[in-house]
Amino acid sequence: MPEPTLFERIIAREIPADIIHEDDLSIAFKDINPQAPHHILIIPKKPIPRVGEANDNDSATLGHLLIIARKIARDIGIADSSEGFRLVINNGQDGGESVPHLHVHLLGGRKMQWPPG
Ligand code: AMP
Repeated sequence: MPEPTLFERIIAREIPADIIHEDDLSIAFKDINPQAPHHILIIPKKPIPRVGEANDNDSATLGHLLIIARKIARDIGIADSSEGFRLVINNGQDGGESVPHLHVHLLGGRKMQWPPG
């Protein structure tokens, strides 16, 4: 068995995190190194390493992560088009991924720049 990832250990409550949402398929918690006033990670409980390794039958789980992101954005009051937020998924080394457990970054509370770095 491979070593559990950092995020699997957060799911198992072996490592503390500021968890703001949990359901059967996903968990969401505050990023430990926030890059915006709101910076939340939404992750599947299933240990999918990254989008590039998701299966065709993961579509419900992947879609669920976006629905949860939308719910959280509404809850914290940044879902209006007058405010807004950014969702980011880093995939692989060139994509900037540092934890090999799929996660959606929800960033908001400040004006985002484009193109991203
Ligand atoms: P990425 O670089 O896209 O793989 O994102 C990984 C994210 O996990 C980074 O934004 C880190 O700040 C965040 N992170 C790492 N360790 C923890 C932790 N223990 N609790 C919450 N967020 C973490």
